[in-house]
Amino acid sequence: MANNDRTVKVICGRCDGTKQIAGFRHVSNGDCFACNATGYVLITERENARREATHDITESQRIRAEWISNATLTQVESLSWKQLVNTQAFSLWPIAGYPNLHADWQKNIGPTFYKMQDIEHSTLYSGKEG
Ligand SMILES: [Zn+2]
Repeated sequence: MANNDRTVKVICGRCDGTKQIAGFRHVSNGDCFACNATGYVLITERENARREATHDITESQRIRAEWISNATLTQVESLSWKQLVNTQAFSLWPIAGYPNLHADWQKNIGPTFYKMQDIEHSTLYSGKEG
């Protein structure tokens, strides 16, 4: 949409708005080339939203989200039932920068989860009867 192509002025990430790069004083007086020594760069609103969203999550959240997004069947099958339950709970929580996390969970982990769930439930019910 056209709205996402609008640009916003943000502090240059290369020089952190200082207009100069420390340690590069011998090159063009240390002027930041990323922002032409203005301290600001123009990026699209979409990119800005993505950066802000990604910035907000913790490193451990990012690692877990990446794991769920890329999990292989072998990795998934090595999880305990409790860990499988944890991945489902985590995938249902909105994690900024990972809008498709639960869809990825359904694809990568869901089949193993539902198979294990059946086993867990039948164990539970037979336990109650006994
Ligand atoms: Zn800069």
